[in-house]
Amino acid sequence: MSKKTIVLAAVVALAITGCAKEDTSTTTESGVPLIEAGSLTTCTHLPYAPFQSKDSSGKVVGFDVALIDLVAAKLGVTQEIVDTPFEGIKSGADLNSGKCDVAAAGMTITDERKKVLDFADPYFDATQALAVQTGKEVKTLEELAGKKLGTQGGTTGEDYVKKQVEEKKLDIEVVSYKDLAALQQALATNQIAGAVNDLPVWNEYIKANPGKVVVSAGFDTGEQYGFAVKKGNAELLKAVNEALATARSDGKYDEIYKQWIGEKPAA
Ligand code: GLN
Repeated sequence: MSKKTIVLAAVVALAITGCAKEDTSTTTESGVPLIEAGSLTTCTHLPYAPFQSKDSSGKVVGFDVALIDLVAAKLGVTQEIVDTPFEGIKSGADLNSGKCDVAAAGMTITDERKKVLDFADPYFDATQALAVQTGKEVKTLEELAGKKLGTQGGTTGEDYVKKQVEEKKLDIEVVSYKDLAALQQALATNQIAGAVNDLPVWNEYIKANPGKVVVSAGFDTGEQYGFAVKKGNAELLKAVNEALATARSDGKYDEIYKQWIGEKPAA
């Protein structure tokens, strides 16, 4: 082939591929497929402290981040975090479209989600909690009759509240917020009389903003969080489970738990 032909072929090839995203996917030595060489790309929905939120320098940190860092280290790559709406995470859309390799978002394992995601072994137990403004402690949802109760869109807390309102025919206006920050802001500024979300995020919020709100009731929903991969990605699922198992046995899990959540409740 002459030099001219080669150049022409290159131009044609460029024209055909156009501006399509360069395929940088790879497979690690241990057979784990990754959407980008050298990275374990995580989808999450910010903010969700203490599981994932930005620190003062803008770096995403938290309990989930620290655990997925262990998976990345095991694979010999670094974790890259993508902030994206929770809907795309829990529906499997983000994993299916190759936006990320793993989902780590304080996400509860549910039967519905299991249909569209493959969950690794549970890594955290959670319950739901009702937070209200300090001094206005109501202990039950019933006491919120005639008032507004905030939830976070697409979450198990929202499902729980909606189910209670329907089953008990409660006269409560459920207001859905797009993320945790918006929900907490609405509660702090009195736009809603109460808000339901996972207990650890309220504990964290109260630690960071003492005096504003209190947890006035808990709902023992018996939830467990799980990291998720694209359906059928058995190689990455195995790596996540192995990293978790190692962390549980070598003390790293307890260390990370203590750092981000606090003292572990007695088993
Ligand atoms: N644990 C809740 C759920 O899975 C909330 C998760 C979140 O908002 N990041 O629905």
